[in-house]
Amino acid sequence: MPRRDPDILILILVALLITLLAIRVGNAATARTENFVVTAIDQVTADGLAQACEHYRAELARKWSGKLLAPWDSPALIEVTVDNSSGGGTTSIWIQAGRVTNIQGRWQGTRQKLIDDVVPHEVLHCVFLSALGTGNVPLWINEGVAVTAESPAERSRSTGRIIRALHTRPNPCFTMAELMSQVNYPQRADRVRLFYDQSHSLISFLLEKGGRPKLLNTIDAGIRSDKLLDGPLAAWQRTLAGAYGFRDIAHLQNDWLSWLRQGGQTNHCVGLRRLMWNWRQRSAAGPHWHQGQQCPT
Ligand SMILES: [Zn+2]
Repeated sequence: MPRRDPDILILILVALLITLLAIRVGNAATARTENFVVTAIDQVTADGLAQACEHYRAELARKWSGKLLAPWDSPALIEVTVDNSSGGGTTSIWIQAGRVTNIQGRWQGTRQKLIDDVVPHEVLHCVFLSALGTGNVPLWINEGVAVTAESPAERSRSTGRIIRALHTRPNPCFTMAELMSQVNYPQRADRVRLFYDQSHSLISFLLEKGGRPKLLNTIDAGIRSDKLLDGPLAAWQRTLAGAYGFRDIAHLQNDWLSWLRQGGQTNHCVGLRRLMWNWRQRSAAGPHWHQGQQCPT
């Protein structure tokens, strides 16, 4: 048996690793549209997701601001991993002097989850902050708004979880002050989920009370409100209560709870056209988009 030199073995392993990485990078495909550069596992996936990003960008901008967004200065760079996870992603958005200058995202999930929930959620973050021209928005508003773009099925699950949480003793829900003062995501996974669910429920409640234009105007007023007097939390609470005619934030909380008890949110629908990507029947020419049922509102 010839003796194998350990240094040569290490070199072989390093070479193998480099080869594997090269194969992996070589297999990844990139699709470019006007506002997105999407990298994914293959060309069909990258093309389909880039189209979905552009579709949601236009659709959500129309819904939230009543007009199309101007093209960003540079396209958003999105890396997508298709896996069996429950879906999620992070999107970093840089804004200078009211303009979005750079967007980078890393999103993952099954193909269905990406199309139904992750892409619209993350794209709404981009559209929403572009329309406001600032990232200086409380976390609960930013996430609560983004969840409204997810599928009716996911939103129903979110509502179910918050109703179950409200019936749990001791009540695990955030107080209004806790929810509205969160600057970072909670550390525990169950608290993160609850934070999203409660934020989404509260935003849905405000949307039912006054619609998107009023919510956007209120958020704009909150951004510009004087926070030196008694701090950002009090300033935001004052702005919200005043805009929606509540005596104070406790009054707002009571109304939100009554609305939930009456099942208000279960009737709420984002009204987005439901697009389903039929992965099985896609042709060599690219993915097929199928328009599903229109939401009733
Ligand atoms: Zn989000």
